[in-house]
Amino acid sequence: MTNEQRVAVVTGASRGIGREIALRLARDGRFVVLVSRSAGPLSEVKALIDDAGGASAVCAVDVGDSGAWQGAVEKIAQERGRLDILVNNAGITRDNLVLRMSDEEFDEVLRVNLKSAFVACRAAARAMMKGRFGRIVNIASTSGVVGNAGQANYAAAKAGLIGLTKSLARELGGKGVTANVVAPGFIETDMTKDLPGEVRDRVLMGMALKRLGTPQDIAAAVSYVSSDDAGFLTGQVICVDGGLTMC
Ligand code: NAP
Repeated sequence: MTNEQRVAVVTGASRGIGREIALRLARDGRFVVLVSRSAGPLSEVKALIDDAGGASAVCAVDVGDSGAWQGAVEKIAQERGRLDILVNNAGITRDNLVLRMSDEEFDEVLRVNLKSAFVACRAAARAMMKGRFGRIVNIASTSGVVGNAGQANYAAAKAGLIGLTKSLARELGGKGVTANVVAPGFIETDMTKDLPGEVRDRVLMGMALKRLGTPQDIAAAVSYVSSDDAGFLTGQVICVDGGLTMC
């Protein structure tokens, strides 16, 4: 790693969208810190990055554990001497209709999908402001923009991410730090693999592009939003959804 190399933290980097974002940012020349709960899969992603001549490190932590997660972000910034890019991508679903949804299902989704992002942004903002450069990219969902039956907890968390991001954009803009949301539509990952056929067909019918997205589609958007070139883009919600919501 050179002194000039930008340091990026990507949560949920062990698989799916986060893995692809991590690979893409490494190809973009970033030093990428790979975060999830499982060290094994993260090491496999690290090996891919190393083989391609990139640079990365593994950080196994539960982002839902606020104390441990805050400590991890502070340690990364301290050890690397900088923190330039933060991609809050880790997420879970606990789907249920509101009338059947338990407090636990609601709280867990809010904790992992929303509070973890708040904790990381707060910890990272200090290092970003010091460097007078920062790119915060929060991965929400079109569910957080237009809602989704059976996902009140998830949609609330993702809508919360949008409010968090816009507030960060206003608070940190004067220090060279941007904050944006990338909101994926339906993307082919473990999260959507059990989607019933009729739901998949209905979704496809409503999409201008008539195909589900790929993790690469999302990684390409994150690559731009986190780049030095995107310095005039902040407080935005970029729906990468094949024309599903046109939000
Ligand atoms: P995925 O394949 O299920 O992967 C989720 C990632 O989050 C994994 O790397 C997982 O790693 C990590 N993770 C989950 N809980 C964690 C925790 N407590 N601490 C640390 N890491 C944790 O999901 P995906 O489809 O790639 O989704 C990625 C993001 O995009 C999520 O925020 C999701 O809401 C959003 N999104 C996805 C879609 C879609 O269609 N797939 C659509 C809209 C938005 P470990 O299990 O190893 O910890």
